[in-house]
Amino acid sequence: MLFELTEEQKLIKDTARDFAEKELRPVAAQIDREEKIPESIFKKLGELGFWGILVPEQFGGAGLDVFSLALVLQEISRVCASTSVTMSVHNSLVCAGVAKYGTDEQKKKYLPKLATGEIIGAYSLSEPNAGSDAASIETKAVKDGQDYVLNGTKIFVSSGPFAGLMIVFVRTHPDKELRGKGISAFLVDFNQPGVKRGLAEEKMGVRGARLCEVVFEDCRVPADQMLGRENQGFKLALDLLNCGRIGIAIQAVGIATAALEASLKYVQERKQFGKFLSEFQAIQWKLSEMAMEIEAAQLLSYQAALLRDKGVSHFKEASMAKLFASTICNRAAKEAVQIHGGVGYTKEFPVERFFRDAKVTEIYEGTSEVQRIVINKALLNKKYQ
Ligand SMILES: Cc1cc2nc3c(=O)[nH]c(=O)nc-3n(C[C@H](O)[C@H](O)[C@H](O)COP(=O)(O)OP(=O)(O)OC[C@H]3O[C@@H](n4cnc5c(N)ncnc54)[C@H](O)[C@@H]3O)c2cc1C
Repeated sequence: MLFELTEEQKLIKDTARDFAEKELRPVAAQIDREEKIPESIFKKLGELGFWGILVPEQFGGAGLDVFSLALVLQEISRVCASTSVTMSVHNSLVCAGVAKYGTDEQKKKYLPKLATGEIIGAYSLSEPNAGSDAASIETKAVKDGQDYVLNGTKIFVSSGPFAGLMIVFVRTHPDKELRGKGISAFLVDFNQPGVKRGLAEEKMGVRGARLCEVVFEDCRVPADQMLGRENQGFKLALDLLNCGRIGIAIQAVGIATAALEASLKYVQERKQFGKFLSEFQAIQWKLSEMAMEIEAAQLLSYQAALLRDKGVSHFKEASMAKLFASTICNRAAKEAVQIHGGVGYTKEFPVERFFRDAKVTEIYEGTSEVQRIVINKALLNKKYQ
């Protein structure tokens, strides 16, 4: 690896791999089948400190950086993408959000519980009429005395069915024409009156990572639950998405690696025409390309993580990492099924799960088309280098 890991980083990576191999691998197919991550996995992730990777030590977290988070997510994604996306949303969107933008009171109230996994975090931006065009959200918060009253519907809330806290983005300025400049972020407890969770959605992939609709009906949220400043919430949403996109990029690297590893094993076991599949050049070229693309995606993902940790602009790099890694992940997962032939299409082998899990990396936290728009904005703004 080009990136020389410190002793601490090696330990973090090895710990994540050990957990993934010994505890997660035996239940990964079950998580997909039963659409549920077992309680024991949530608990063990808490014991390892993996719910609080970005939470400062003073609030009970590991106080680590985004690069360390990426090392952990990569290992988890290699085995179970449902678990890794649940961890990514919690760490890179919610913990990062409270740690970076929270008041002292908000940090004291939420970070210790987020760090242990006592409460799981959700990030709620998408709505029925606002997906890629997130600045057009319609959920409203109207000031009433010391509170804001929230009304509206959010969809696709990852971890919504069991999360305890969400960062929710709402319109606080009545003028819709202001778009992103009229949006604020709030910290909302799921158990507070006026918050209704919908039924969990059935999905194609990452099936163990549950998501649902959340409806706000005259939900009164105290003004001191606002995260960041009034009408500045959209900037906050995008900044956190930059961090989240690094998590999804590295998730894609992990899934692609799993697809390659499964293929490498299979081609050395299966014979046709009197030869192992590994002896056919057509197969060898597929494997070489998968490996090359995984390494390139890993480099882009690590680069974006390191730039975020340095505190310099990284929106282009985060988008490039996510766009490239999700593209090659889908290619690798598709080739892995092809290399396995008919059995690759059955649930007997894990590659059909990788194929289904891969797809969403091109959709959530900004589709591939949106990443191209972001990258192009950087080019036209002459912010290329
Ligand atoms: C499993 C899963 C988990 C999710 N978790 C969360 C979550 O926790 N929180 C949250 O807020 N959201 C979440 N989402 C929502 C996700 O971020 C959105 O689905 C995504 O941003 C796309 O929005 P959309 O589905 O409304 O698609 P649309 O915006 O309707 O897009 C449909 C198609 O049109 C394309 N398109 C749109 N605009 C343009 C354009 N200007 N130029 C070119 N093409 C364009 C898109 O790329 C896409 O291909 C989740 C989604 C999924 C599937």
